[in-house]
Amino acid sequence: MHPETLAVHSGREDLSALGVHALPIDLSTTNPLPDVERGGESYEAMATGGRPPSEGSMVYARLWNPTVARFEGALAELEHAEAAVAFGSGMAAMTAAVLALCGESGRRHVVAVRPLYGGTDHLLGSGMLGVEATYCHPAEVAAAVRPDTGLVIVETPANPTLDLVDIGDLVAAAGDAPVLVDNTFATPILQNPLDHGAALSLHSATKYLGGHGDVIAGVIACREPTAEALRRVRAVTGGLLHPLGAYLLHRGLTTLPIRIERQQQSARRIVQWLIDRPEVEEVFYPGLDGDPRGILDRQMRGTGAMVAMRVRGGYAAASAVAAATRLFTHAVSLGGVDSLIQHPAALTHRPVPAEARPGADVLRLSIGLEHPDDLIADLAQAFAAVPSATSKPAYMA
Ligand SMILES: *Cc1c(COP(=O)(O)O)cnc(C)c1O
Repeated sequence: MHPETLAVHSGREDLSALGVHALPIDLSTTNPLPDVERGGESYEAMATGGRPPSEGSMVYARLWNPTVARFEGALAELEHAEAAVAFGSGMAAMTAAVLALCGESGRRHVVAVRPLYGGTDHLLGSGMLGVEATYCHPAEVAAAVRPDTGLVIVETPANPTLDLVDIGDLVAAAGDAPVLVDNTFATPILQNPLDHGAALSLHSATKYLGGHGDVIAGVIACREPTAEALRRVRAVTGGLLHPLGAYLLHRGLTTLPIRIERQQQSARRIVQWLIDRPEVEEVFYPGLDGDPRGILDRQMRGTGAMVAMRVRGGYAAASAVAAATRLFTHAVSLGGVDSLIQHPAALTHRPVPAEARPGADVLRLSIGLEHPDDLIADLAQAFAAVPSATSKPAYMA
């Protein structure tokens, strides 16, 4: 079935039997046990990463929650995956992925392909998770992989440059090491990394999946054995997604395809407008270079709604534009129904070492559902508010 249909119907298979039409929110922290024997067996099944046995109990909400499981089922279908495991944030999901793939296997080396989200870049190099990270560019992955590499982590399109990485090529270069693709920017509507050989597709569900700026969450789509390892980590470390968040995410999925389509349409118009603006040095958007390596064509179904640009006049001009927009909220995060603008070097990518940090003149835009003409008018008035390096004082004119 098509993603539009899956987005509306997936993860709702048990609703008719429950006698309800809308998604229920299950808030129980604990669950009645049929008897000690079956209660113990249920505990064992879930603590080792499995699902609750049909005659057993869900035991405790750190092991299983039906509202969360429904959202996971829906996301797995959209990602063409056997399973998905949800967490309390994108970073909790990233942490669990590293612990599950490097901790349990004892392969304590990760290859981190730059550019990455600042939080991810920082986490991997921090030493906090007991792994050693090698940072590299996509072409250097084969050389960076070692026998003890437990995970190769890549983001495409990347944040904030919108660089594309060929997932199939990267998987080949990684050899035996499993590849995790941070699919936050593309969403399952535009890209399914598992179809190209990736082992895990991670989302900061806080962004497009939720889409309304009111849930922090993360989710990973993968095969069932990997999902079991992730659930084991989640059960002991407790990085849970609350059922209310899972409900909002599952509800948000229904409009994801149509939100992406519309936001992308607006982004393309805004990109065309930005290209001709004298205040803009360079625009970053997938496919603007004509897709010479055919990556867009091979692995994406669209170009998305994230845009970045280099503003003429450096840091001063970029910070003045960010401060002058009215419809675009000056705020971090992305992927919601309303448009946001932010300065990556000062904010989302602040923890990244200087040599890998975006330039001081870069601004990132997340295009929302407003009318594109209104967004363009807002950017025009923000540009007008910036003292241009080339403009002369009035008395010199
Ligand atoms: C926001 C973000 C994350 C982190 O997710 P949180 O939900 O904020 O923890 C990871 N990767 C990308 C690409 C992001 O944009």
